Amino acid sequence: MKKKRWIPVLVCVIISLCVCGVLGFQYQDLNGRYQKLEIEASQLQENNSGLNEELADSAAQLEEKEKYIEGQKDYISELSEQIQDFGNEDSTEDSWEDSSEDDWSSTNKSEDDPYPNLYADKDDLPVQSGQKYVYLTFDDGPSSLTPKVLDILDEYNAHATFFVVAANNEEYEEYLSEIVERGHTLALHSYSHNYNQIYRSVNAFLEDYEKLYDWVYEETGGYSPCLFRFPGGSNNGSSYIVNNIIKEMERRGFTHYDWNVSSGDGSNLTTTENIIDNVCSNVGYIDNPVILMHDGPGKNATLTALPTVLQKLSDAGYEFRSLDQNSEPVQYRQSK
Ligand SMILES: [Zn+2]
Repeated sequence: MKKKRWIPVLVCVIISLCVCGVLGFQYQDLNGRYQKLEIEASQLQENNSGLNEELADSAAQLEEKEKYIEGQKDYISELSEQIQDFGNEDSTEDSWEDSSEDDWSSTNKSEDDPYPNLYADKDDLPVQSGQKYVYLTFDDGPSSLTPKVLDILDEYNAHATFFVVAANNEEYEEYLSEIVERGHTLALHSYSHNYNQIYRSVNAFLEDYEKLYDWVYEETGGYSPCLFRFPGGSNNGSSYIVNNIIKEMERRGFTHYDWNVSSGDGSNLTTTENIIDNVCSNVGYIDNPVILMHDGPGKNATLTALPTVLQKLSDAGYEFRSLDQNSEPVQYRQSK
């Protein structure tokens, strides 16, 4: 009898040991899996932060490219205007159909040029009788370049017109007063300079312009600009909207000015030499030339070109004037 009493106890002990063993094994297994998952989670987190950084980089690159494209749009619209003018003026019967095999680029002055002597000496500007005036205009400032531009203009006793932009230029607001005090014309260009925004509707344009007007008025202690220039020129945007903007702005007493000579500095690829050549080679063919230049951020090539441009035009007998409401408007689009 005594022996039989021990048997169930022994069986219970053995079963308990087995259950403990199985549970222990399962615990270890689960613990192992948990640690593995933890490692995977931390790896995923690392990957995720890496991807986030890449995404931020790409967004910054995209923004830079958008800015570049906007600059190019400016430049293309200038070029298309020049091409249009050229087409209108040059309606001779000459056929250029045979030139299909030519593959010219405008800067084809390389050693392979088969006609190396065929270059007009454009430095000698045509002489006109009486006083000649030239109107230098600077868009997209004020920037850190503006005081240097003002100093160079002073050296040549030159007056100019500054079509200003507020966005990203707020820290240079003190130069607005300086432009006025030194006898130049301060004019409106855009608060945001964002084509998609301002050319959406007449109201969108007016909203942008009122903000800019207020900024100029406050910073200068009451200077009231009366001239403006459309970003990209008045041939930008839908003709319906721009025509209505012109009508509305004229009703409000403003006159818009485009340009008839471009320095080509809208593109950051334009060199100092290009700028000097673009200006000095073309002013002589136009009465009262209004020259497009920029004093916005990064326009160092313009700054470097400016003394030579001023010297050459002074030598050719030009007087540098600011635009005012009595100056003859240069307008690609006019109110109808
Ligand atoms: Zn502009």
